[in-house]
Amino acid sequence: VTPAPDVEALVDSLRLTVADPSRVSTGESIIALHAGDYGYDASRLPDVVVFPLSAEEVSAVLTCATTSRVPVVPYGAGTSGEGKTIPLQGGISLDLSRMDQIVTVHPDDFDVVVQPGVLRHALNRGLAEHGLFFPVDPGADASLGGMASTNASGTTFRQGSMRNNVLALQVVLADGTIMRTGARARKTTAGYDLTSLFVGAEGTLGVITELTLRVYGIPEHVIAARAAFPDLRAAARAAVAISNGVPSVSRLEILDGPTIAIFNDHYGTELTEAPTLFLELAGSRGMLDEDIELIVGLGEEYATTGIHFERDRTAQHQLWAARHNFGNALMVRHPGRSATATDVCVPLSVLPDAIVHARDILRERDLDAALLGHAGDGNFHFVFMLDAGDPEEIAAYKRFYREIVEYALERGGTSTAEHGVGVSKIEFLVREHGDLMPSMCAIKRALDPENILNPGKIIPAQMLEPTSA
Ligand SMILES: Cc1cc2nc3c(=O)[nH]c(=O)nc-3n(C[C@H](O)[C@H](O)[C@H](O)COP(=O)(O)OP(=O)(O)OC[C@H]3O[C@@H](n4cnc5c(N)ncnc54)[C@H](O)[C@@H]3O)c2cc1C
Repeated sequence: VTPAPDVEALVDSLRLTVADPSRVSTGESIIALHAGDYGYDASRLPDVVVFPLSAEEVSAVLTCATTSRVPVVPYGAGTSGEGKTIPLQGGISLDLSRMDQIVTVHPDDFDVVVQPGVLRHALNRGLAEHGLFFPVDPGADASLGGMASTNASGTTFRQGSMRNNVLALQVVLADGTIMRTGARARKTTAGYDLTSLFVGAEGTLGVITELTLRVYGIPEHVIAARAAFPDLRAAARAAVAISNGVPSVSRLEILDGPTIAIFNDHYGTELTEAPTLFLELAGSRGMLDEDIELIVGLGEEYATTGIHFERDRTAQHQLWAARHNFGNALMVRHPGRSATATDVCVPLSVLPDAIVHARDILRERDLDAALLGHAGDGNFHFVFMLDAGDPEEIAAYKRFYREIVEYALERGGTSTAEHGVGVSKIEFLVREHGDLMPSMCAIKRALDPENILNPGKIIPAQMLEPTSA
């Protein structure tokens, strides 16, 4: 990497800005690690990677970047897609991974204060000694700063997404201002809800340097279950009924027959190759006993071909680890291809028709994609393994996504439930919320007037040009 002359000057000033100049890196391998993501969007090298240790250092870096009009792309664990961490215009990749301290656990208040680089598994290890856990589970061992910035959710659905679980934030704005939003109190109506604004902003409005999160008591008992169904619609209808009617169900995933076949092949399991629900129930023993009865009854109502309950913790972990690693398994099976997932979400009652509609299109066009649905939320992913160099494959994927987005929007749904917009879903955002784009642009201009924070993500560049103001 040969930095441009102004970048050399920038690197010099950044090295004066952070306490240890070795945390400002132009090393080839570090730069390369911050260039791309899981999706098919073309990667681009940043000019420099900075590893701050404090909000003050983040502030100094952003002040420097705003003065020099250099783009800054916040970087957590790099597990997201849609091009969100790609430095489209080079500049600084601001890697928050070394801000990895659990600051304070408040067991009596059921909250925890963390730095943004704390990883999900590390947080849950730290909370376990207090009998607590943090529920949001995107499968990947993502950072809490990245999870907040994408409004992640995943396989757990009872406690909601990140937005439901972030109480307060410390954020550094593009001009270096350090500010706090929200409160540790459970309720606040003190002015505009800026906490929710920064959650899901994909690093385009500010850099999160501390989070206060809601945490929960580790449940007394957990049971996993699998239920197979004769067809996809029956499985999806059973999922809706279980989501609405069985209070202890904390995870509720749907996979279809072709997906279970890949699952069996990869993990050496012998699951029935039919549409299947993976469930987790959490609560007291009495509550679970009652809910098992409910699930058996609902399973029969939708003609289940078999329900298996698993009480052994190791076997439960193996099942969920296999489910969570399934995306990685697809990547291993298709080396050189990019994992790309649709992320439509619909009202629960629409879910059965929406999934069947999507699978029918795929079948008609002979397109290969695995179904991984967070059925408890009405959110489903079709995961494609795309050849990023094949425009026809990309076009077929986009055509399919466009169609299922239209289907969802006509029925009260959304184009993206948890993966966010990045670069590759901008067209869907504009389709879904065209009327909101002027307000979104106004917010972006107010908080980041030089457009240095993750430019080119969420808002199309041309909408921020002065002529369109
Ligand atoms: C196998 C696999 C399965 C997945 N399954 C799910 C799933 O079920 N549900 C789900 O929601 N996601 C899922 N994801 C996607 C991903 O894990 C989430 O998007 C996660 O929240 C990203 O966190 P991260 O730390 O990796 O963030 P990154 O990828 O590093 O960054 C994500 C975005 O946040 C911004 N950002 C990062 N840190 C900060 C910060 N401190 N301040 C401001 N902006 C910041 C970045 O600029 C970028 O725009 C999956 C990913 C993989 C690889």
